[in-house]
Amino acid sequence: MSSKTLLIENGLLITLDAERRIIPNGSVAIEGNRIVDVGKSEEIRWKFQADRVLDAREKVILPGFVDAHVHLSEHIIRGLVPDDAPLHAWLPEWLFPVYSILTPEEEYYSAMLAFIEMIRTGTTTFCEAGTLFDVESVVQAAEDIGIRGIVGRWTWDLPQTPLRMRQTTEEALKQNEALLSQINRNRNHPNGRDSRILAWPIILGIGTVSDELIKGAKSLADSYGVGFSMMHLATDPASGTKDTVPVSHLEELGILDKNVKLVHMVYIQEKDLELLQQYQVSVVHCPTAALRHMKGITRYGRFPEMLDKGICVALGGDSGNGSNHFNMCRIMYLVATLYKDSRMDVNQIPAETALEMGTLHGARALLMQDQVGSIQVGKKADLVLFDTRHVEWQPLLHPINNLIYSVSGHSVDTVLIDGEIVLERGKFTRINEEEIYSRVDQLSKRLVQRSGLQVKMKWKEV
Ligand SMILES: [Zn+2]
Repeated sequence: MSSKTLLIENGLLITLDAERRIIPNGSVAIEGNRIVDVGKSEEIRWKFQADRVLDAREKVILPGFVDAHVHLSEHIIRGLVPDDAPLHAWLPEWLFPVYSILTPEEEYYSAMLAFIEMIRTGTTTFCEAGTLFDVESVVQAAEDIGIRGIVGRWTWDLPQTPLRMRQTTEEALKQNEALLSQINRNRNHPNGRDSRILAWPIILGIGTVSDELIKGAKSLADSYGVGFSMMHLATDPASGTKDTVPVSHLEELGILDKNVKLVHMVYIQEKDLELLQQYQVSVVHCPTAALRHMKGITRYGRFPEMLDKGICVALGGDSGNGSNHFNMCRIMYLVATLYKDSRMDVNQIPAETALEMGTLHGARALLMQDQVGSIQVGKKADLVLFDTRHVEWQPLLHPINNLIYSVSGHSVDTVLIDGEIVLERGKFTRINEEEIYSRVDQLSKRLVQRSGLQVKMKWKEV
């Protein structure tokens, strides 16, 4: 049985393949959900009897971006936390009152809003930082809009409050196991390999999880053949050397491995870099969150050194209050500029490397390097078409410089995920964006009201 063939032609392809080819007047041939040919349009055209041809004249075609750390449950209260709220007050005073009362419908719309923002700015794959309660709602939203990603549950076992989030080690592991077996095994395809949605064990950082939980979650990941994500590690320079212990402590626990992804990793030392390199652990750098949370990334961050050592450094948008966006174009811009300025060295994180971090490194960190992250034969057809008849692309002399330094994401025109067009000429094909915004706005205001919190603005509404 042959699946439908879609031919995208006449585009400027930035392939991110092994030779990093850029192909003007290029074509991508897609059969079902996979890329079956890539090359010059005049060579590809005669080879395929396409069911559909998409003319990509005046478009730049890229592999979809990968956001390796996003808090989907928080998007529904984006912007609520005042920008002068002390960091220690964030969770107890601003987030927990909301988290404790979140409903499945609110988690659905929160995730949906996040997915709309990601797809509109070119991200086609995400990794959840940990859904608070209702992972099924998140899976439903992902399936409704058609995005690819990894889901998981916010997991910890040490904090005693808020009550609704309290878990024993055993409960935390049981819930993760149930989730992995439900989402990864009960799909049509073993290990969910052909599904757009997978589940991983996702646990919070040091101080909120016991050694037993860390080890248990890692062995769950191993037995299900998936990855393991640990959030919020080495985030705080104020904690002195205390926060550098975890990487070596993780080695003692025997969990440093290729399928482990550690997030933030700002404040680390030389010996930590060596451990990450030795065990091929992936790191997720979240520059927008680090800036809002004053992590001192330009003072303490060792991300350029990680890249020099060949460590996989993916990128993450983090959260609706600590970022506050999931726009990979703006995130890549930051990594390409921050370290040049802070070290006064033009060679720090070139534009091309920033793009690799947002695509190939993201794919590797999510163990999807054989499936997404570049435009290559055999990979899933996750593609973004940018409209270059937009001021942010003009003039089109150096497409990579344009993409990293001037493009905001507003010029994303068409997005394909798994061979399916989910955004076509700026319009979502599966969902009604306007209706979702109306519902999100309603739910968000009611949620804040129910929580007893108040939006604190310094300027008065009159
Ligand atoms: Zn986070």
